Amino acid sequence: MSDSDSQVEQVFQLVAEELGVARKEARELVHKHLCKGTCEWYRTKAEQRDFKRQDVRQEQRRAIEGAIARAMPGVDTDTALGRIHKVICGR
Ligand SMILES: [Zn+2]
Repeated sequence: MSDSDSQVEQVFQLVAEELGVARKEARELVHKHLCKGTCEWYRTKAEQRDFKRQDVRQEQRRAIEGAIARAMPGVDTDTALGRIHKVICGR
């Protein structure tokens, strides 16, 4: 696992702790937060999984942003979101 991947894993971990949810759920929330709907997963699976980007509540978005800032210090937001999305969606 590269450093950048382990930072992303750390984001999921922090979100899970902060929101008191399972890691799998944390990962899905992070995906909803940052997915722009252009990935293969979104196109093929989102509907059947009832995946709605707008499901993420405001306080969850704040928790996610805080987790990203802590796990990936000094990384600008666009870069951070891009790296996380690559881990989740494979590109
Ligand atoms: Zn995606």
